[in-house]
Amino acid sequence: MMILSWLGEVLYPSKCILCGRVLKKQETDLCGVCRVNAPEYPYSRSKPAPKGNLNLRFLDSFTAVWYYEGDVRKSIHRFKFCRKAHLSTGYGRMVALRLEETFPEGFDYLTWVPVSGLRRMRRGYDQTELLARAVGRELRFAPVRLLKKVRNTRPQFQQATPEARRANVAGAFAPCEKIDLTGKRVVLLDDIYTTGATASECGRILRGMGAKEVHIVTIAAARRR
Ligand SMILES: [Zn+2]
Repeated sequence: MMILSWLGEVLYPSKCILCGRVLKKQETDLCGVCRVNAPEYPYSRSKPAPKGNLNLRFLDSFTAVWYYEGDVRKSIHRFKFCRKAHLSTGYGRMVALRLEETFPEGFDYLTWVPVSGLRRMRRGYDQTELLARAVGRELRFAPVRLLKKVRNTRPQFQQATPEARRANVAGAFAPCEKIDLTGKRVVLLDDIYTTGATASECGRILRGMGAKEVHIVTIAAARRR
């Protein structure tokens, strides 16, 4: 067994999830350079971003692990578009740590922003569900599918204005099944937070299902100018 794991390390060495550098023996997920230099996102539930910085309609708080730039951006791009599904394990550990810091008293549901059936079919996986499952394994807390995507949307980054982004996602999500969330605190996971239009629309549906609180947590957040 030891020989097998040694052989695995030789053939498929563990790499930094952000820059792809081969990790040293004592490193996990991130290389020493990225651990120091990765652009950590500084705001959270207990330390909110400056007013007007975020769109938190139907949401109670937002936090992320990093800013969406440099190697973080490249890494998430590989995760979403280049079939690097295994990155979900490392991201999952980082997001799980963030959740433990942010919600010391815990939460009732862990769920994710789903992609459409068509996109899932093309890509072969729903990257945000993989992230949620990886986070769930770390926290020993099973994620639950609460939302489904009922309408295809165009990529949000192609929408020029906040209004266009809102219109693009309006009515795109629906409750997955009749789950009563009355009085529950829900943590919603996504890969990137850009303008919050998608997260807010999901928050609106979850509140409609009765949720008392909806918190959005992502791997990365776009930096505000
Ligand atoms: Zn690195």
